[in-house]
Amino acid sequence: IHSVAKVHRVACIPGDGIGVDITEAATRVLNTLSTVLKTFEFDFTTFDWSSKAYLERGWYMPPDGLDQLKKYDVIYFGAVGWPDVPDHISLWSLILPIRKALNQYVNVRPTSILPGTKSPLADCKREDLDWVIVRENSEGEYSGQGGISHEHSEHAVATEVSIFTQVGIERIMRFAFDTARSRPRKKLTMVTKSNAQRHGMVLWDKVFYQVAKDYPDVSTDKMLVDAMTVRMVLHPTSLDTIVATNLHADILSDLAAALSGSIGIAPSSNLDPTRKNPSMFEPIHGSAPDIAGKGIANPIGAFWSAAEMVRWLGETEAADGLMKAISNVTAAGVKTKDLGGSEDTKGVTNAVCKEIEKLF
Ligand code: ATP
Ligand code: MG
Repeated sequence: IHSVAKVHRVACIPGDGIGVDITEAATRVLNTLSTVLKTFEFDFTTFDWSSKAYLERGWYMPPDGLDQLKKYDVIYFGAVGWPDVPDHISLWSLILPIRKALNQYVNVRPTSILPGTKSPLADCKREDLDWVIVRENSEGEYSGQGGISHEHSEHAVATEVSIFTQVGIERIMRFAFDTARSRPRKKLTMVTKSNAQRHGMVLWDKVFYQVAKDYPDVSTDKMLVDAMTVRMVLHPTSLDTIVATNLHADILSDLAAALSGSIGIAPSSNLDPTRKNPSMFEPIHGSAPDIAGKGIANPIGAFWSAAEMVRWLGETEAADGLMKAISNVTAAGVKTKDLGGSEDTKGVTNAVCKEIEKLF
């Protein structure tokens, strides 16, 4: 009997630099999964929205770009940014408007040390570092509010306004508490800078303690962001789920990725928990112009992001299988240079595809 496979519609935005290499690798791995499992298919549509295109035609996304994206089940994103375009232009033309317009107010960034890889922290074992950073993705320091006056004089004045709302804080806190509750240690660390920033950060603290009352089974603690960087390095085992603002979590998750072995393995999910809009999945690294086009980028962050996407789509067996395939490949020592190996992007991709075929 031939049953009809479910079709998942994926909008693919490879973007710039190694974003292109790793999106191609991730697409191959996803197609291998669906071919082997046969219970679902992916229908990919690729959008050439990139800095390269911008330099040629003057725009990243067409005027109806956000409406186009809304027609898909999920979005897979590579990276955006190129040295010839100021970073604030590329970010504000593509990734930030998508997160905002599609209500992706949560950014989830898991971190762990993969088998066969090492943390730069001496003595840090695999089980010592297992975190999920929940990043507020819609307001805070990246609200885009502010301005500059007297720009072309020696007296230029700029403001960069952080926006924090009760509604915005409360929804990210609830997501973070739910995440903490779903994990064995049931532990949430909240990060602020409420000693020096006395408005938004103090509201953040207050809402945290309010929401905590609904989660008596989750243990909590509060850290200032500066002390948090020290704790991540010196006492990694003491942490589990972490919630922080847009800016703080951006920085802490780069540190977390580096501590887990390489920025090249870390995934992120931009989620609209209401599921009214498509969510977006992307590795946390950028376009890495220094290694772009050389075929040596680590595709693991892209694969892990793809696994998170597949899980979000409800394909749990496929997600677990992909994660298992990734672990088996790193455990066997098939790794790119950033993880201390000697394989290239293609070598790791081939190995993961072969593992998937073996697993199912
Ligand atoms: P963004 O502003 O988009 O975060 P960035 O300027 O912070 O980008 P990345 O592009 O994330 O920088 O990368 C920093 C460096 O880390 C790169 O120059 C590259 O050497 C290395 N790197 C990043 N991603 C990978 C990867 N997937 N594989 C190997 N090395 C990587
Ligand atoms: Mg960066």
